[in-house]
Amino acid sequence: MAILQNTDLRILVVDDQESVRSHLSHELLRMGVEQVLEAASAEEALAAFEQHQPDLVLLDILMPGNNGYWIAERIRDLEDGRWTPIIFLTGMDRDEDLWEGIRTGGDDYLIKPVRATVLAAKIRAMQRLLAMQRRLVAVTEELYEANRQLNSLIERDALTGLVNRRGFDRVLHEQIRLARRESTPLTLMMCDIDFFKQYNDNLGHPEGDKCLKAVANMLARTCQRPGDLACRVGGEEFALILPNTPRSGAMMFARALTELLASGKLPHPASPVSPYVTVSGGITTCVPDESTTSMGMVTRADEALYAAKALGRNHFFSYELQVTAKDHLVAQR
Ligand SMILES: [Mg+2]
Repeated sequence: MAILQNTDLRILVVDDQESVRSHLSHELLRMGVEQVLEAASAEEALAAFEQHQPDLVLLDILMPGNNGYWIAERIRDLEDGRWTPIIFLTGMDRDEDLWEGIRTGGDDYLIKPVRATVLAAKIRAMQRLLAMQRRLVAVTEELYEANRQLNSLIERDALTGLVNRRGFDRVLHEQIRLARRESTPLTLMMCDIDFFKQYNDNLGHPEGDKCLKAVANMLARTCQRPGDLACRVGGEEFALILPNTPRSGAMMFARALTELLASGKLPHPASPVSPYVTVSGGITTCVPDESTTSMGMVTRADEALYAAKALGRNHFFSYELQVTAKDHLVAQR
């Protein structure tokens, strides 16, 4: 007879008759099954199932108290996402019994007295199904992880490593919703590297790319609170999403950013306003209400950015306060 190979199977045998249990246990162990658990009632069966999580259940149908169909239904309820093969043991070989067995969650049935060769064949078949099912679960998990990584790649700018336009749109939308619900101020800053075209024309595109990376790096460093996000939304255009940041906080943030950039001293030989790379920024801050949209916030930040540029660049300008970050500081003193 066929002996099972490579089996680390744990099998639960449920039958109210001691002689049936010990016969099956004996046969299973002889076939090479690693562990056989026995249960004589529905209560014992469910307790053993929960505690030992067997790989397969041989389940008697006729038992005093709750029968095998009832146990099968409970077992299916207990499993969460897993699937344990259930083979019914029955003295009856009527089609209705078979149907009831399948309906309640059984996978197959054996007619008592069980012959060893038939038992081995059924267990082999179940082993194969079990292996396929486990592989399927593993593949599903791999797919889920791959999908997650793909999504984060899709939202990532390859050059700078910042979140790209696509990610920016999604996050801004989410943060507006969140800030509306919590009634907290949300700040959006749109930033441009000043005279970046001249930088590229003068030093070449490889140097331009280095400059973009350096500025992106600084922006990312200033976004340290949870939720703060630096994005690259266009060629030399960046955006900062700053949750829970009121107008004055946004101005402080802008000044810190300007200082960090100044201390970096990235040479810009073609800038009319500074020997170093500078950034202009437009700021908008609001506690979002029902009328607040991503497009509305971007438009206000862009208008403020335009004003910052008109003031000679190297400024951050607030749409709501109608003042630059530097002037705001002076006004506060
Ligand atoms: Mg019985």
